[in-house]
Amino acid sequence: MPGVTHDKLDLLARLIGYDSVSARPNLALIGFIADYLSGFGIEGKILKDATGSKANLLATIGPQASGGLMLAGHTDVVPVEGQDWRSDPFTATRRDGRVYGRGACDMKGFISVALSLVPELARATLTRPVHLAFTYDEEIGCFGGAALAEIIARMDHPPGFCIVGEPTGMKVVSGHKGKLSIDGHVRGAECHSAYNDRGVNAVEIAAEIVARFRTLQKRLATEGTRDERFDPPFTTVHTGVMSGGVARNIVPRDCRFEVEIRNLPGDDPMDLLHAIEAETVEHLRVEMRRVSPDTSIRLDVQSCIPALAPGDPDEIVRQALRLSGTNRPGVVSFATEAGLYQRAGVPAIVCGPGDIAQAHRPDEYVAVEQLEKCEAFLRGMIRNQQSNPK
Ligand SMILES: [Zn+2]
Repeated sequence: MPGVTHDKLDLLARLIGYDSVSARPNLALIGFIADYLSGFGIEGKILKDATGSKANLLATIGPQASGGLMLAGHTDVVPVEGQDWRSDPFTATRRDGRVYGRGACDMKGFISVALSLVPELARATLTRPVHLAFTYDEEIGCFGGAALAEIIARMDHPPGFCIVGEPTGMKVVSGHKGKLSIDGHVRGAECHSAYNDRGVNAVEIAAEIVARFRTLQKRLATEGTRDERFDPPFTTVHTGVMSGGVARNIVPRDCRFEVEIRNLPGDDPMDLLHAIEAETVEHLRVEMRRVSPDTSIRLDVQSCIPALAPGDPDEIVRQALRLSGTNRPGVVSFATEAGLYQRAGVPAIVCGPGDIAQAHRPDEYVAVEQLEKCEAFLRGMIRNQQSNPK
């Protein structure tokens, strides 16, 4: 490709230049990566979603064999609307040893480093494969990762180990909480508020359900499972959005709300949701239907990202610890695709350049020094896999 080098900073500048905000297609970016790979004789499989506007990319370098490493990351980024940026978020800008731009740290930096290693991997005689797994729509529910995890679970030669390069400051993270996202919708029955005994107030019904989630949070915080490695050390529940009604003097017909449960690896968030359905929502449904049969309550699962359960560090995790200079593996409270890959049978850690505090913010950046650390880390991990094939 004209003008494209395999330098990680050039690659990062190219990737930042694609506006791959989750709401928009990512095909141009995925096409760029596929073209880049084909320049080194590597086929990147483009796996489109049902709409055809988004795609994952899966590529295997080296032999068709089980084991080896999978380097995984998402290509989408969060929006920039309403944020005050010093420079254009979709133009990589270098200042003070940092690269600024949307996705610089979350997580186009990691993808650039992985891609910069492709020429040397293509030249090398690998005994174990290196897989590249780049996804869409991570930021809005890990939809690409969920689709890719299904493919990986059915692979004849699955990867032996996965590194998800979310920003951890290049520290090894071996556990994270899961995340269940729930879309709530109460359909009530509208009427004049002076005669509210003839209607069903959707806002008030939704408020009861939201309050029930709040009670659940209190119970989890005081008497739920505790795992002191996590902050906070319990499963969290929260309502982030609620909207309904049109005027004070109209009994509202609709109310929508968005709840999330961020669960410890030992807790099953679906059990918690089912309990709320059985103990609260069912009774409310009966109550509402007594007034109007056209009423309803929906609690739809928008997405479900499993937790990454930290195990005892095995040899490969110990290698990662040594190479990254981490004393012991950490845990984080944000969810990543690593939980999906672990559930698909591939042991996974999270380790990538940049600070999560930089992610999703205006003037997002990654330090060049972090990219260099990542490069040395990935080289070491790949080398170890070759000499100690799993
Ligand atoms: Zn991310």
